[in-house]
Amino acid sequence: MVGFKHLCRYCDKLVPANANVCPFCGKVNPVGKLRCPKCRNPVEKGWYACSHCGLRLEIICPQCGEKTFLSDYCSHCDARLVVVCKNKKCKTEQAPIADTCVKCGRPL
Ligand SMILES: [Zn+2]
Ligand SMILES: [Zn+2]
Ligand SMILES: [Zn+2]
Ligand SMILES: [Zn+2]
Repeated sequence: MVGFKHLCRYCDKLVPANANVCPFCGKVNPVGKLRCPKCRNPVEKGWYACSHCGLRLEIICPQCGEKTFLSDYCSHCDARLVVVCKNKKCKTEQAPIADTCVKCGRPL
């Protein structure tokens, strides 16, 4: 599989199979399976909940307020679906799936 290129799911350009960021559109996780942000189980767009941990995969986008599938970006406004911990020493970026920071435990 080394050197084999995949289509970016966002801009449809060919990017390396192991790319973490698309070099063409700059979006994260451009190739490979979508994964549950909680348990990393592979999930598919359109699922209501993760088949492994039951995490709800349909959320309200914090930017536009529309329902969107929980992945890296909102399917309506393209906003990055992450929250940043308000704790200045932490500032961990995480999927908006919990009320408290995954790292320091502070309320988000
Ligand atoms: Zn791209
Ligand atoms: Zn899961
Ligand atoms: Zn949105
Ligand atoms: Zn934190």
